[in-house]
Amino acid sequence: MKITTENIRVNFQAKEILKGISIETRDKELVGIIGPNGSGKSTLLKCIYRVLKADSGAVYLDGEELYAMNAKSSAKKMAVVAQHNYYNFDFSAREVVLMGRAPHKKTLERDNADDYRIVEEALKTVQMDKFADRSFSTLSGGEQQRVILARALAQQTPALILDEPTNHLDITHQIMLMKLVKNLDVTVISAIHDLNIAAAYCDRIYVLKDGVLEGEGTPGEVLTPELIRRIYKVESEVVYDSQGKMHILFL
Ligand code: ADP
Ligand code: MG
Repeated sequence: MKITTENIRVNFQAKEILKGISIETRDKELVGIIGPNGSGKSTLLKCIYRVLKADSGAVYLDGEELYAMNAKSSAKKMAVVAQHNYYNFDFSAREVVLMGRAPHKKTLERDNADDYRIVEEALKTVQMDKFADRSFSTLSGGEQQRVILARALAQQTPALILDEPTNHLDITHQIMLMKLVKNLDVTVISAIHDLNIAAAYCDRIYVLKDGVLEGEGTPGEVLTPELIRRIYKVESEVVYDSQGKMHILFL
């Protein structure tokens, strides 16, 4: 699936947070959005996953304008792992994952054996099957993050939108998550704050700063010491390991 944004502008109060952002993914591409805190990454993703309506501009899913679709149709096309997840009710991990099946159901249609099988599989994939009956609110940040990813997997969409998905995860689960997402064979747009994670897994990267796109390209093209200095004001060196993979060292 292809996701396109066209000249997205967002204002909060009198401040312009996104100043005309146009990005495009190719089918099954993993696209990273990087940039300092407050640069507008989450705001851009929210416009794409429909919790925020841009003041102007448009989002297209496979060429179809987002707001021309009903919410259920867009939920069949993209699943979301947001930065903060909070439930007012005391749902179990399994119940949270089951919510991913909702876009596929008619109103009041009961969950069936297929739904439960998909949910158990998703929990296994993120290694949270042992926690299925635990109350979501009692899980650690990283465990919650994996349950939310399982919910997105259970939604079985051709696109995933992730907002700093590795934030609460230890290094084992950071790698697990990024490998898993990379191997899903779906289109992914992900805000990523760790430049080495972005370098290792993204096909392409967009750089946001103060609501403006400051760069676009493959990790090798974008993540240069010059750009890192300009965007983050830190000195760095790019090195290649024995397997030819790039790493950024901060000096
Ligand atoms: P990032 O995800 O890159 O860290 P955000 O998109 O969350 O950045 O935020 C971009 C800017 O917009 C920040 O300065 C933030 O304080 C501001 N902002 C985000 N949401 C709101 C809001 N609802 N009201 C006012 N300002 C907001
Ligand atoms: Mg953010």
